[in-house]
Amino acid sequence: MSKLIDGKQFADNLCEKLKQEVVELQLAHKLLPCIAVVLVGEDPASQVYVRNKVKRCEQLGIRSVEHRLVDTTTQQELLTLIESLNADNSIHGILVQLPVPEQIDDKAVLAAINPAKDVDGFHVVNMGALAVGENRMVPCTPLGSLMLLQDQLGDLSGKHAVVIGRSNIVGKPMALLLLQQHCTVTIVHSRTKNIEALCQQADILVAAVGRAHFVKADWVKPGAVVIDVGINRIEKDGKSRLVGDVDYDAVSEKAAAITPVPGGVGPMTIACLMYNTVAAAKMQSGIG
Ligand code: NAP
Repeated sequence: MSKLIDGKQFADNLCEKLKQEVVELQLAHKLLPCIAVVLVGEDPASQVYVRNKVKRCEQLGIRSVEHRLVDTTTQQELLTLIESLNADNSIHGILVQLPVPEQIDDKAVLAAINPAKDVDGFHVVNMGALAVGENRMVPCTPLGSLMLLQDQLGDLSGKHAVVIGRSNIVGKPMALLLLQQHCTVTIVHSRTKNIEALCQQADILVAAVGRAHFVKADWVKPGAVVIDVGINRIEKDGKSRLVGDVDYDAVSEKAAAITPVPGGVGPMTIACLMYNTVAAAKMQSGIG
């Protein structure tokens, strides 16, 4: 059996350190990190994500300001709100929960956020910085996944990492982070031929596909470390439950270590959002 990578415990430890740092920032610099969270519409999953993020802020002493907008909000109304948040010096981070309703162009929204306040790390300026190795705001899910990998393996140099998925929010930035760590990186996607054979070569396998149980045990090299980013809702035995992109029970017989779903990458994503918010507050205040 492989070792379970406890993302929840790691995230709790990281948040405990951030909580201390928030206290110190207030005492030494009168700085209260603050994030504005914008939710447009009533998407149930988005509401849960926003609630969890705001709850984590409260636990850490980070100030959060929620903006809940109706689902008929126009793009211009949202852009006007972002402009006012950009101009507000008491707000250090801006997060627009995706997806936004179809009348709004999410690219235009992400581009409107001041890159220094882009705590999701999705702005092209931040993605470009990541591509040339001058990291500023790094997307939270890949950052959290990298932290778990480094905790497991230490130096990642020379490892062959296979990333399944090439989205702008997970797959691509994950591959760039692994490349920065001197891994040999292969990205596979829906047009890749022989995915199975490529995955079998991986020392590190990151699955960010969005398909339940996509990665089978015979795709995994014995001793590989597997990071399961996927979150998929399935019906099993008449019950609704969340599973990852990896066939966990079978793969855990082969991998050296594996993240569970839930309790793996998910908690790290929120912890890294807190990390980015504290970092943004410090950068904007010229601290550290
Ligand atoms: P996405 O934008 O839909 O991207 C999925 C990627 O998987 C695409 O690059 C796609 O390839 C690839 N893909 C789809 N079907 C494939 C197939 N049959 N074979 C090979 N590749 C295939 O999804 P995402 O935003 O990256 O998210 C991926 C998963 O992670 C989802 O389950 C999402 O819910 C989850 N997620 C979790 C967290 C967390 O905090 N744990 C955060 C973000 C996302 P093409 O590019 O060729 O279409």
